[in-house]
Amino acid sequence: MRLVSSPILVCLSLVLAIGCTRQHKSRSGEAKAAKIEVAYDDSVPSKQRRLLENDLKILSDAGITDHSDTSILDIPDFTNQSLHDWFGEGIHFIVGESFSESAMIGPKSRYPAELAADGAVTVMLNLGGGFYKSGKKKGALAQVPIAGQWVSVTSPMVGILKIGAGLFGKVLKAPHAGSDDPVNSYARLAVLGHEKRHSQGRGKNLCFSHEVCTSGTYAGEPACEKYYNGPYRVERVILEKFRGACEICNKKDNAYLDLLIADSYSRSVGYEMGDPTPETTL
Ligand SMILES: [Zn+2]
Repeated sequence: MRLVSSPILVCLSLVLAIGCTRQHKSRSGEAKAAKIEVAYDDSVPSKQRRLLENDLKILSDAGITDHSDTSILDIPDFTNQSLHDWFGEGIHFIVGESFSESAMIGPKSRYPAELAADGAVTVMLNLGGGFYKSGKKKGALAQVPIAGQWVSVTSPMVGILKIGAGLFGKVLKAPHAGSDDPVNSYARLAVLGHEKRHSQGRGKNLCFSHEVCTSGTYAGEPACEKYYNGPYRVERVILEKFRGACEICNKKDNAYLDLLIADSYSRSVGYEMGDPTPETTL
């Protein structure tokens, strides 16, 4: 929570009743898209779940009017409905940091984990892609217990994501803003979009894996991108759309979003177009 300029006194007087948190506002007048249905595993802490549920509500009422760069996400436009459909088709199960996938994936398998850790802190992992790749390698269908059910990983698009404290402040968070301020919701939604793209692709671009960076801040790490429509570009476009549509973002909010956008740009090492059609057979 933060207090700014003249609204301070008003905010202080109302804080016990409604709090000071600014709300995302739609300006398009467009109809709200339906809520995205996600099954949360018991391993997800309640506060993280509450924040993420609020983030996903924004997708149903984003109010974006700039419809450029649709080819990067492979969507017709950035209307509420299109965003809802795009995210909703690839995000179905969310597990928490305490969820152990190691026994199911195996120590030598690699999965889209470049956003996974800063030290030992998880930001977000696309486990569905990892389970699928591991099952494909072994010639066996992966079955994973999540949220009280067995999930058959017939495709990375089953959409199993792991989230951790890194997504909620330990790594990703505008330092001047509260966790539930729009600027931080936008940052988390961009990471969700990044991981959703890891649920897509087939053949040589299965899961849109990253490239090892040859120079710069991330030299030697698999944190760069050769695809024109890969996860980092998806992330960048989502950030740009929300930044452009945000009427209540202040200079610090915009500066933080610009920083994330610049970081995504810096990871680009190619312009190859990957096929986003998800692989669905083992
Ligand atoms: Zn990634």
